[in-house]
Amino acid sequence: MVGTTHHRTGVEGVEGGVGVTALMVAAARAIETHRPDALARDVYAEHFVRAAPASAGWPVRVQQVPDGDANPLWGRFARYFGLRTRVFDDFLLRSVHRTNARQVVLLGAGLDTRAFRLDWPPGCVILEIDREAVLAFKHEVLDGLPAIPRAVRVPVPVDLRDDWAGALADAGFDTAAPSVWLAEGLLFYLPAVAETYLIDTVDRLSTAGSALAFEVKLDKDLLEHRDSPLYTATARQIGIDLLDLFDRGPRPDSAGDLADRGWSTSVHTPFDFTRRHGRGPLPERNDALGGNRWVFASRSRP
Ligand code: SAM
Repeated sequence: MVGTTHHRTGVEGVEGGVGVTALMVAAARAIETHRPDALARDVYAEHFVRAAPASAGWPVRVQQVPDGDANPLWGRFARYFGLRTRVFDDFLLRSVHRTNARQVVLLGAGLDTRAFRLDWPPGCVILEIDREAVLAFKHEVLDGLPAIPRAVRVPVPVDLRDDWAGALADAGFDTAAPSVWLAEGLLFYLPAVAETYLIDTVDRLSTAGSALAFEVKLDKDLLEHRDSPLYTATARQIGIDLLDLFDRGPRPDSAGDLADRGWSTSVHTPFDFTRRHGRGPLPERNDALGGNRWVFASRSRP
């Protein structure tokens, strides 16, 4: 155990609690997929949305949203997820194609289908960590589809508040080989102690040539934006109170900690990528996305 203060009550699958956020991201990816100028395409995403009672009535195309792109949840926020998917797709592919790292660890993988979607070089192993009930739902849906992984895919059902490094080792992770890690839409749901353990563990298990990308929120006080269109629309339209799911305690400086340990890091706002790709969210007043940062780290020496 990496923390003793958390409790394990509540819903563990995709029907509620933090698991339902995986469905929200899947719906956003479905909407992105159907856009003519899609930043990323995920043909599996809408199948997850349709299969779960919690999300069966949610839109999977922006045309199904009465106010379309003006909708703070299914317009701007969904586009944010589309952009994020694309940016981290690019990070993962760049990392494996430019190095000899062949193990990819998706932390809090949720309904991520990169193992099925992306053009992996031969020999890649994708290890997907999430809680057991989330992965069980994912498999139930994928088993009913003609979905063939394009790399070796290894689900690792474990709670990231526990000693997940042991589960990763049991799943075949090779500590002697370089690795690529992704924590997308995850850290702000974890207690600070679990984030610190996660960064320590990635550092400990990463040999030279490894890379990590993750998302953080730098807001000093998340509640400052509680009236933002993004939070209020998400709560009102699909009943997800993100502020209630986020851990609101003080956060560690994970990018700084990695830099102190010799990793090269770069920190970007999502808006940097909106400008690069010519589409995606731009800053606005009372912006719940204003504190979001995407961090890219690589280790050139052990
Ligand atoms: N990374 C995926 C993506 O971007 O599509 C999923 C993001 S979703 C917003 C957050 C995911 O983190 C959920 O699938 C949830 O189950 C997982 N998660 C949150 N807390 C977790 C924990 N303590 N242990 C394992 N997974 C956790």
